Amino acid sequence: MPRRTSPRDCARALWLLGIEPPVTSAQLQAAYRARIAQAHPDLHLDSEARTEAANVLSRAINEARDLVSDWIAADRDWPALAGSRAAARSPAPPDPMSAPVCRRTGLRAGDLVRVWPYDGDVEVVAGTEIDREQAWVILRDHGAARADRVMLAAYQCPACGRCAGPAVERPVLRPCPECLADLRALERRPDETRRVRSAIEARAEAGLAEARVLRDERLEQRAESRRRWARGLRRAGPDDLRAALVSAFTNAFDRWTAPV
Ligand SMILES: [Zn+2]
Repeated sequence: MPRRTSPRDCARALWLLGIEPPVTSAQLQAAYRARIAQAHPDLHLDSEARTEAANVLSRAINEARDLVSDWIAADRDWPALAGSRAAARSPAPPDPMSAPVCRRTGLRAGDLVRVWPYDGDVEVVAGTEIDREQAWVILRDHGAARADRVMLAAYQCPACGRCAGPAVERPVLRPCPECLADLRALERRPDETRRVRSAIEARAEAGLAEARVLRDERLEQRAESRRRWARGLRRAGPDDLRAALVSAFTNAFDRWTAPV
């Protein structure tokens, strides 16, 4: 038996389908047909990867439809959505601050990303899915993309200082996928500490360069301070170094995943 679905699962399903509660069966069907028409694999015959992306998205939409359908059948109370989504195009999914983080990609619903070749508009992540070893990122408005072709946008990592544009008023402060992977590496393999420290310093350097391109002083200052921190650890003993790295990563991670 599938696990009992939570109100949050329902809210995400509604969001993926682009509807707001309360929803009747007829409304659900209409929304489902509209969404699936955009995602249907037959529309994506020009490339195998795109067909596969469409399949992944179709499956996510099917699951969302089934979930909401069960919800209606069980006559459960509708979840309260965080804020109205009257502005349908605005990048504000329900409850993004506490959506679960995909351990494989380091992404979660609500993240802003750019898709290869990274020169298009910023997209909003609706979720992630692993399909035959391949991680896919499901996008709110434009199908799905392979995880290795998706880059975080408009954010800065508080652990390493890496950042990315476009320049926005308030970039998201969140650990970068590389820092999340490094944290897991450190948990499993203590001998990774030296490599992780240099990798952080390199990311801080890249963050500093990017912050200057974006002309954002706050991003620049943070990247600069992370670089100083990483450099200061060059001569630390292995145990001190590991402790410092793990604590920087977990602080960044805890702050990011804490409910607002
Ligand atoms: Zn980072």
